[in-house]
Amino acid sequence: MPPGDEKCIEIIQKLRWKEGVRCVFCGSKEVVKRGEDKKGFQRYLCKKCKRTFNNRTKTIFDKSKLPIWEWSYIIKEHSAGRSIYSIAIDLGRKYEHVWKAAKKIKQDLLARQIASKLKVNVEMDETYLTAGEKGNRRLSRKPMKRGGTGIKGRGGLKEGKTPVIVLTERKGKSIFFVALEGLSEELVLELLETYVEKGSIVNTDDFPIYTKEIERKGYKHGIIPHNKKRFAEGNVHINNAENRFSFLKSWYRVFRGISKKYLSLWVSFFEFLLNLKTNLIGKTLAVIEKLMGSTPKNI
Ligand SMILES: [Zn+2]
Repeated sequence: MPPGDEKCIEIIQKLRWKEGVRCVFCGSKEVVKRGEDKKGFQRYLCKKCKRTFNNRTKTIFDKSKLPIWEWSYIIKEHSAGRSIYSIAIDLGRKYEHVWKAAKKIKQDLLARQIASKLKVNVEMDETYLTAGEKGNRRLSRKPMKRGGTGIKGRGGLKEGKTPVIVLTERKGKSIFFVALEGLSEELVLELLETYVEKGSIVNTDDFPIYTKEIERKGYKHGIIPHNKKRFAEGNVHINNAENRFSFLKSWYRVFRGISKKYLSLWVSFFEFLLNLKTNLIGKTLAVIEKLMGSTPKNI
């Protein structure tokens, strides 16, 4: 067992089976221990379906060459905003190797995300992040449908800059970040219908993409004039949205070179981190727990 793995395996075991060990294939609780595998993971035998599994089975850590402590290290350091390059140096691994692991972490996390809609008092704003042109240009994230694709708002895209929308709820403080190919009135309406409950108040500035259609779609629309953006008018402001963007931008700074193809993954990973109201260790554990999928999907 690689040094450092023992403690990690213990933690992972606890995180995965919080509700008791269940067969990852059939969901049965009739499971008995069957020694440890070569890497030190507890093995189990399901008495019902007669199959064996271990603590990593059906997770991204399964059959990985990276020891579990290195996965944990990548999650923690990446969450803290360290570059893949410097994490790779720390671990003595190839850049590509660590890059792939970090991508896997984000993809798996995104696939497991269950979004509930924002409500009551919501703020919406847009910003631009620098991303390269490499790779394909599909930026949509599920379950969002992509009507109005390619319609460029606000004078077209700035070179090398990709628009990102933030939607944040004032009370619950839940956040969505969505990277887009362009900005348009249609996309704004689509995002609202996907992420915000009807009847909620939607606060925006007065950029032309936020139109009267917002009210027609069943939302109340609070508009703060752009030139007075920093000053709230009563309850109408987007201070929370701007605050979330400043967190995103300072985290994202070291990743500026990533291609547009992966920008959605990056912002949704940070969205997940920011939605966890805890410190770095808490966030790392929450990511690991999510990736372990403590309850099998087929139950
Ligand atoms: Zn079973």
